[in-house]
Amino acid sequence: MADLVVAGAGMAGLVAAAEARARGADVVVHEKLERPGGSMRLSSGVVWRYREFDRFRRECPGGDPALQRALHDRLDDDLEWLRALGAPVVGEGTGNPLTTGARFDPAGLTEALAAAAGPAIRLRDPLASLPDGAPVLLATGGFAASPELVRSHVTDQAEDLFLRAAPGASGDGLRLGLGAGGEPSAGLGEIYGRNMPAPPARIAAGDLVDLAQLYARHAIVTNSDGGRHIARNWSEIDVVQWTARQPRARAWFEVPTENLAERVRDRTVGEMVEAAERAGAPVRRRRESVTVETVAGITSTLGGLRIDPSGRVAPGVWAAGSDVGGIATGGYASGLGAALVFGRLAAAAALAGGVDR
Ligand SMILES: Cc1cc2nc3c(=O)[nH]c(=O)nc-3n(C[C@H](O)[C@H](O)[C@H](O)COP(=O)(O)OP(=O)(O)OC[C@H]3O[C@@H](n4cnc5c(N)ncnc54)[C@H](O)[C@@H]3O)c2cc1C
Repeated sequence: MADLVVAGAGMAGLVAAAEARARGADVVVHEKLERPGGSMRLSSGVVWRYREFDRFRRECPGGDPALQRALHDRLDDDLEWLRALGAPVVGEGTGNPLTTGARFDPAGLTEALAAAAGPAIRLRDPLASLPDGAPVLLATGGFAASPELVRSHVTDQAEDLFLRAAPGASGDGLRLGLGAGGEPSAGLGEIYGRNMPAPPARIAAGDLVDLAQLYARHAIVTNSDGGRHIARNWSEIDVVQWTARQPRARAWFEVPTENLAERVRDRTVGEMVEAAERAGAPVRRRRESVTVETVAGITSTLGGLRIDPSGRVAPGVWAAGSDVGGIATGGYASGLGAALVFGRLAAAAALAGGVDR
């Protein structure tokens, strides 16, 4: 029997397996899909934290302060650890003065972590039940890909959401963790995502970043009933959470013509509108404005299993990554960052804790 069984070969699972292997442990990694990487492989690869802990608390006020403290204090060392594994950095910093971190090439990051995790990655072999005789670390990526769980916990418009993530994240970790006696975290209804071009737009896995419609603050945002989004702030996360709860998970972004030249990160609003139009989304151009129909794209769930600061869920069961909730509650913090820090931390604790169930 292995020293540690890991469910999921995405960011958290591969990090955990690499950490356990570096500690001399015999690790088995189950992966549901035909290749490793999960949503990490589709991501922008920016691993980050808030510069100031107080800012983290303000941005994510419902999160557990002990988990937030661990993430804040450990991320920089863990980034060094990732670099030392050979994960390719393609950019230093995040471009946001409030945060610090680095951008990795997602394919190279996956490769470096899979190599460090070792040969025991069992592809197309989902973990369906808890193994006897070994501690288990749940890292199955949350439940964004389960319309049933999203309907129960997030929105009754679940079937209309666009899945902006890898398809494996169907809530297996949550089910297994709760079944073992674990508890749900705070914020089970919160999601991270982006407004995306609405159907009939065609969106390939490689376009999930480029087709995001990130200009709500420069638009009038309405639902199909003409109801208007009143922004608490203009964070894209707030807008997508609102959109997810509107009829058919749709929102219309009407941009006054004079706002098309506004820049958001490295693109103009006009370029994002054109990208949506090319993808086939309904776009209506008039002299004074342009209106794009968008759909809420769910990237990951922010609620999940409750963990203690060692990553423990229940006797013999640990978790990391999007299977864990209660870290970014009320806002957003880097999912890759949390997967990195808690993947390492939970692997070490699971090896020390063993099978106490
Ligand atoms: C387009 C996009 C852009 C993003 N950009 C960023 C970014 O720049 N910065 C950032 O911090 N975050 C970003 N994210 C989010 C980030 O990718 C996730 O937060 C991160 O991958 C979560 O890690 P994880 O290990 O929990 O899940 P994943 O990386 O998705 O891995 C979970 C794995 O578990 C597997 N699995 C599921 N069920 C089972 C089972 N029963 N048994 C075995 N395996 C199972 C899945 O198939 C998957 O491979 C982005 C995501 C997307 C999609």
